[in-house]
Amino acid sequence: MKISRSTFDKVMFPCYNPMSMVIKKAHGVNVYDTEGNKYIDLTSGIAVNCLGHTPRGVQKVIKKVSSKLIHCSNIFCNEFTLTLASKLVKLTGYEKVFFVNSGAEANEAALKLARRVAYDVYGEDKNEIISFDNSFHGRTFFSVTVGGQESYSNGFGPKPAAITHIPFNDTETFKKTISDKTCAVILEPIQGEGGILKADDDFLKTVRELCDKHNAALIFDEVQTGVSRSGTFYAYEQTPVKPDILTSAKGLAAGIPIGAVLTMDKFASHFGPGSHGSTFGGNPLACAVGSYVVDVVSDKKFLDKVNETSLYIRQCIDKLNEKYHVFKGVRGEGLLLGLVLDDKFSGKSGVLQKKCFEQKLLTLVAHGDVLRLAPALNIKKSAVNKAMLLLDKAIAKFIEENA
Ligand SMILES: *Cc1c(COP(=O)(O)O)cnc(C)c1O
Repeated sequence: MKISRSTFDKVMFPCYNPMSMVIKKAHGVNVYDTEGNKYIDLTSGIAVNCLGHTPRGVQKVIKKVSSKLIHCSNIFCNEFTLTLASKLVKLTGYEKVFFVNSGAEANEAALKLARRVAYDVYGEDKNEIISFDNSFHGRTFFSVTVGGQESYSNGFGPKPAAITHIPFNDTETFKKTISDKTCAVILEPIQGEGGILKADDDFLKTVRELCDKHNAALIFDEVQTGVSRSGTFYAYEQTPVKPDILTSAKGLAAGIPIGAVLTMDKFASHFGPGSHGSTFGGNPLACAVGSYVVDVVSDKKFLDKVNETSLYIRQCIDKLNEKYHVFKGVRGEGLLLGLVLDDKFSGKSGVLQKKCFEQKLLTLVAHGDVLRLAPALNIKKSAVNKAMLLLDKAIAKFIEENA
């Protein structure tokens, strides 16, 4: 069968607009298309392929476990799922884990759990959820409505109710909004899709204090920031607070679909038998890979390397910037980096991304002003150097055409 980019337009829903190539295979940070082109990938499947493409260790686990157990329903338990849950509990201090298959499902479960806890303990009037402008929590109808971009949730009929959006990092507005009717506050410790914006420590302290005062669950969506992406195993470790409920997905099984909700027993106990569930959630193959990933990326030496690489990329970007004055700064932590375009190029991150693509460099955007880099956490210095040469050429072309 002859497959090309135009096949996409013929047979796929048009809700994506993929770049003009078809990927054939990928190894490490290299991606190869059907025309024989080679690209350097700084996107990692949007922070998913945390160990690069087709990593050997993951291949080995898949081979080994797929000869033992691939799927088993939740009316039984199995050692692979229980092993990953035990590891996550040990690493984070949370007491209970619920597995799903994606970030949206993890947030869906977390939000339902917060509503259920409030309902059980305080009654049905405590149901309001506070969320933040430009946040992103996935595409189920509940999670997308909680997300802070109305255009994503409009046009689907009546929305889930009692959800309030306020500006991120705005402590005064938050103080005025939270009340005894609030059951949950959800935020990303670093807004990913929203532009690599970090939550301020003082803001988080107030959020934590007022959640405690009003008995509201504080939920951190660490779907993008988690699993060592931000330079600690979870990003909350770099903040002065710990959330009541944490959601994780993306990199957790290095490319195999998985999601997880972590919390304390006093919350989890409200999800008794029959209250929530998932056919594929806790899939043994995904969990076995997850266990492997968690062992690799939580290692202190591995994390040191992530932070070293982060610093190195920032230095490279600074050098490029001395030459071109194209960015007004770099935001983010670890290997979740946002290169913020200078005001004179405002709204043009997509154009720069295209220029990178023409140089065979794969990058992401986060809103109109930010070029987002989320390379494999184990990317080598030599690959960074190659990527920076391509970025240099892309920026030169970008400026030439957009000056
Ligand atoms: C990607 C992402 C999601 C959604 O995850 P899916 O696996 O696409 O459902 C949710 N929250 C954040 C912060 C994300 O980056």
